[in-house]
Amino acid sequence: MARRFVLALAVVLALLAPSVARAQSTSDLIYAELDAWWAAAFAERGLSYNSPQLDLVDAPGTEFCGFLDAFYTPAAYCPASNRVTVSTGFVSPDALTALLTLISHEWGHHIQNQTDTGVSSAIEYELQADCFAGAFIAYATEADLVSPIIGTLALQLSQAAGDVWWAAPFDEAIHGTQSDRAIAFLAGQSGGLESCGF
Ligand SMILES: [Zn+2]
Repeated sequence: MARRFVLALAVVLALLAPSVARAQSTSDLIYAELDAWWAAAFAERGLSYNSPQLDLVDAPGTEFCGFLDAFYTPAAYCPASNRVTVSTGFVSPDALTALLTLISHEWGHHIQNQTDTGVSSAIEYELQADCFAGAFIAYATEADLVSPIIGTLALQLSQAAGDVWWAAPFDEAIHGTQSDRAIAFLAGQSGGLESCGF
């Protein structure tokens, strides 16, 4: 009897194995949710929407966008290749909060590349991308996709990234101050895309 149970268990495990092997990665899940959310937002506005590509790269020295080194750049959006890239040299592929924050911000630049979102200066582009990230993360927490605490952590991460005192000189003031970034993120988080000007 015990042997039959073991056999039955082995069969069950064998049946389960393919679905375990097909389990989506954290970035795949974020991709699917962000893509669907933005597609719906574009449809509501009568705009046509194209999905970006998402790549995770890990090797220091890997270049993305043709010139950004994955060793120095946590994430970027490249308009020419329509690609969001995240460097796992900074972010673990399982780090939900960091991936959510980075990908939803960079996705915002993809949105800005798709249509006129009413911004013109570099800092406006960056703060609107923070606002878009805040709006998506608010949706994700309201839809119970992620814990509400993730929203608070994402806000802290947005503030910590970008133009802090130790930032590289070429990057200076592009992303705004920590309070600029918090205000932009919170605007999206509390008011949705409309409060981001879109
Ligand atoms: Zn940005």
